Amino acid sequence: MNKLMMALVLVVSVSSQAALNFDSDVPAAIKTQMIEDLNFVSQLTGNGQTPFHKAIFSAVDGKTYQTFFDTRITSVGVDSCGGGAAVACVQPFFDPNKMWLTDNFIKFSHPQIARLMVVFHEARHSESNNGNWMHASCPRPFLDSNGKDMKSIWTGAKLEGQPACDITQNGSYGSSTIMLKNISRFCTNCSDKVKMDADIYAADQLNRISRPAVKQAMIADFATP
Ligand SMILES: [Zn+2]
Repeated sequence: MNKLMMALVLVVSVSSQAALNFDSDVPAAIKTQMIEDLNFVSQLTGNGQTPFHKAIFSAVDGKTYQTFFDTRITSVGVDSCGGGAAVACVQPFFDPNKMWLTDNFIKFSHPQIARLMVVFHEARHSESNNGNWMHASCPRPFLDSNGKDMKSIWTGAKLEGQPACDITQNGSYGSSTIMLKNISRFCTNCSDKVKMDADIYAADQLNRISRPAVKQAMIADFATP
């Protein structure tokens, strides 16, 4: 590697770290992992998108995703987020631009694109001008197509009656589902594994859309040519 390239690599890695402030109690491994995850997403390229994706993110494109995240989240801390099965949260009354990770984010091993799904879900919650896209309560009972209880793909916790659903495609569950589905369909430099993981987690999160007409509209959106 020549000196110019080395300098560029240094600038790139320093600038991506400077964008995010990590509290000192965020485990070093988690900090490193999140920086790697954000670097990965910042390099995605795509060759298309669905109308719902265009409305929220504007393009399947790494720099566009990076700007979306950087303009919403500036710091990361560790918190219980109210306890229970929470994976991460934003606490708008305290600081809408800070994302908190719980032990559940740290202790479970999920694919990279699934961690990014959580991170972009939380970024959407930073939008105070949109009421922070508060969740809706999941139905009771809340059953999958096989009649089994719907559970969190992250923790396995039962979801019925929990504030863990959306009734719009524009909320945190909806927007991150749309993002992953579009990465699965349109990313031009993702591995087959990344695309497959994106599809699996998008399919799961789509079930968090508890208003049938909205879910149908999303399925139609994902099938647009
Ligand atoms: Zn949320």
